[in-house]
Amino acid sequence: MTFFGETARIGAALAAGLMVGIGLGPAGTTAHGQREAMPRLNPQERTLDANLFVQTSAEYVACCLQTYAWAGERLQQRLAAALPSEKPPAVVMDLDETVLDNGGFQSFLDREAKPYEQATWERWERDFPTETRLVPGAKGFIEAAERAGVTVFYISNRTLAEPTIAALRHNGLSVENIGERLLLRTATSDKTARRAAVEERYRVLLYVGDNLRDFSETFTTPKLSPEEAIAARRTAVERQAYRFGTDWFLLPNPVYGEWKTPLGKEPRRFLRPTKME
Ligand SMILES: [Mg+2]
Repeated sequence: MTFFGETARIGAALAAGLMVGIGLGPAGTTAHGQREAMPRLNPQERTLDANLFVQTSAEYVACCLQTYAWAGERLQQRLAAALPSEKPPAVVMDLDETVLDNGGFQSFLDREAKPYEQATWERWERDFPTETRLVPGAKGFIEAAERAGVTVFYISNRTLAEPTIAALRHNGLSVENIGERLLLRTATSDKTARRAAVEERYRVLLYVGDNLRDFSETFTTPKLSPEEAIAARRTAVERQAYRFGTDWFLLPNPVYGEWKTPLGKEPRRFLRPTKME
């Protein structure tokens, strides 16, 4: 390769990097043994705006406060309507992006240009519980529920109890009887059996999550074509619309979740077609 050709190629890679967020990775080696800069796509590029929405927008804070304010109202209403002879009242909450904000983990993936991997997540979960923050409104809701005598259960697909309890403690949340109230991932990410275990002993007044599977497995991505799977999940929500804002409360999570499952590597093809020219 000529010097000019090499310079032009690297120049083109730099220009592309500036335009679409490709960084220059560590130097690679050519077939001729020459060191050269290899363009590297940050796998988090697609998620950048979603991360910024969560980490910087006032709109995200408002969405969370709005959800928790109404969840608190509904909790008081449902509590007042409960008969005294019934099972003791409870609420079931997811943890990540419902109570605990893991923005730092997303920042790490972006900074290091890494894809999500379970092992990396487990390192975050195990070693950095004090890097978690609170989702806006979560603490006020939890404390009001506890003051009203409602037991708060956390059903989470985290796997490590001690660091999770450390994260709750770090964020000033009660960890009283937490051994009974924290239901972590078992052999499955399906939360149905864990919800049933709580429902057996408690009257669950409401559920809070950031992923529809925090409420029901009917929202799992079905084994259909991606187009059909996307449509099926939306239809499932419409069919159960009466639950949302009644006893199901959803926090926004534009960064990750079941919604991303059908999208694959070419998500642009799912954008709505338009006649506009
Ligand atoms: Mg979650």
